[in-house]
Amino acid sequence: METVSAHAKVVWTPDSASAAKRDLWTALKRGLRGRCPRCGEGKLFRAFLKIDDHCSVCGQDFTAHRADDLPAYLVIVIVGHIVVPAALWIETNYAPAVALQLAVYLPFTLIASLLLLQPVKGGVVGIQWALRMHGFDEQSPEK
Ligand SMILES: [Zn+2]
Repeated sequence: METVSAHAKVVWTPDSASAAKRDLWTALKRGLRGRCPRCGEGKLFRAFLKIDDHCSVCGQDFTAHRADDLPAYLVIVIVGHIVVPAALWIETNYAPAVALQLAVYLPFTLIASLLLLQPVKGGVVGIQWALRMHGFDEQSPEK
């Protein structure tokens, strides 16, 4: 007879993982927070932009992710859509000195890009996991 200890953790097996539905929004939100898209508790990053090899809580293998340059492109799109309209609006309405504008826009662009890179990369990996892209599909011949 099998007994289950009160301290037993949920055991994730490739079979149970492949059968389970993966919610895109949950995985995206967990990735944006830098958490494992599967359990939401383990850390996704071991350094600023380095994805860990696996989740320390549920053991999910992260080596299958292929975020590549997408997070950087998305950050450029997001920050560009904030800075460019703001710069155009301020120039049209107030026309401050160019040196003053550069002293504000350049640091803002740099800081906003650095702040967004990790969450966006986490979100991309979360989406890849939820959609079973690349090696995140246990039944994939890619694996
Ligand atoms: Zn996990």
